Amino acid sequence: MRIDIISVVPNLMSSFFEYSICKRAANAGLVEVVLHDLHDFSTKKHKQIDDYPFGGGAGMVIAIEPLTRCLDQLMSERTYEEVIFFSPDGIVLKQGLANQLSLCQNMIFICGHYKGIDERVREKYVTKEISIGDYVLSGGELAAAVTADAIIRLIPGAIGDESSALTDSFQDGLLAPPVYTRPASFDGMDVPEILRSGNDKLIEAWRHEQAVKRTMERRPDLLHD
Ligand code: SAH
Repeated sequence: MRIDIISVVPNLMSSFFEYSICKRAANAGLVEVVLHDLHDFSTKKHKQIDDYPFGGGAGMVIAIEPLTRCLDQLMSERTYEEVIFFSPDGIVLKQGLANQLSLCQNMIFICGHYKGIDERVREKYVTKEISIGDYVLSGGELAAAVTADAIIRLIPGAIGDESSALTDSFQDGLLAPPVYTRPASFDGMDVPEILRSGNDKLIEAWRHEQAVKRTMERRPDLLHD
């Protein structure tokens, strides 16, 4: 998988991809994340990439030329299944969408900034618009990092124990059950006996029961989806 991320502040994301599962997946050749600085595609003085909004009002808008120049170059080099723009008015990222995107070979992520990007880029190039929640960020970089992380950890081989991603919250429509590690007793609080019984069947049944209980208590909406 290859993810090209276009941003006006790519350095915001660079260290994110240099650690943990994303780094491991990259080292294993499972994913390549390529950051592009939009300023490199500006032909203006001082590498300007934004301009005033037509109609007036506060805030700048990312201009059409540098962005389409970057997109055209990437799209001439390979075929992309998705060109994703991060935006508060996009569809909200859920596990199902992450699962779907984890099957893609090549994707472009566009991070907005300021008031956003010229609407015509959305019309002409963008195939999906994703929001990471009902709040406004200063830029799409965190949304891109969140989305990339959710996708990359699903690529087979990215996580050491392959079954682990499948037992996480949302994957089966349920929240995850509680987890414990040593010591078995801490400050008078004991780990549930069943988890120490060694009986895999009983443990699995307990975990399922706890997952259902937790989902009913915290996210009953998931049970009706
Ligand atoms: N004027 C826009 C917000 C711009 S915020 C509006 O009111 O909808 C600047 C950029 O941050 C956006 O273009 C987008 O790329 C990113 N962004 C902000 N909030 C986001 C969210 N909840 N999900 C995904 N991207 C977001």
